[in-house]
Amino acid sequence: MRQSLWLTGGSAAVLYLASFVIRREFSLSFSFGGFLLGLLLFAVGYAVLIVLHEACHLLGFRIFGGVPFRKMAYGVNLEMGIAYATTEIPLRNRPMRRALLLPLWLTGVLPGIIGIWLDSQLLILLSAFLIGGAAGDLEMNRQLKKLPDNWLIRDDPEKPKLYAYNPKGKAATQEDGTDSEN
Ligand SMILES: [Zn+2]
Repeated sequence: MRQSLWLTGGSAAVLYLASFVIRREFSLSFSFGGFLLGLLLFAVGYAVLIVLHEACHLLGFRIFGGVPFRKMAYGVNLEMGIAYATTEIPLRNRPMRRALLLPLWLTGVLPGIIGIWLDSQLLILLSAFLIGGAAGDLEMNRQLKKLPDNWLIRDDPEKPKLYAYNPKGKAATQEDGTDSEN
């Protein structure tokens, strides 16, 4: 959780700085009506991007792992307050890591680049929050990086957790995401 906050704040700082360097100006206006509308747009945009974040995991399982869509599950766990995307079929380490990080690029970094391009504070802020939301994915990627590329990674159907095992041996190890987000 703390890692996620740091990542959100850090990305916001980097994106605003990049925007300033590129545009050589910094415009901020404030009105109460505008603030409320902004808040509403942020909430809607955040919800949409969270759904897209999970959809990108599925896309990653499909593109990088060749998993058929019918072997995947997608939904919301209200008890844990998270959206999730999962695959029944284990992926090899490398494709799994790509599928883990795809949402970071497409729903985190990309909106930030578009936000700088369009000079949209809303998109820049959303980008920072989505990058922060990928902290759990980044942490899992970091842990999987230590394992050989040919190991198989199985996704836990319920928890934001991955199990790694050597396809030739019996030894299994377990990788935990530090964030509740999957
Ligand atoms: Zn994710």
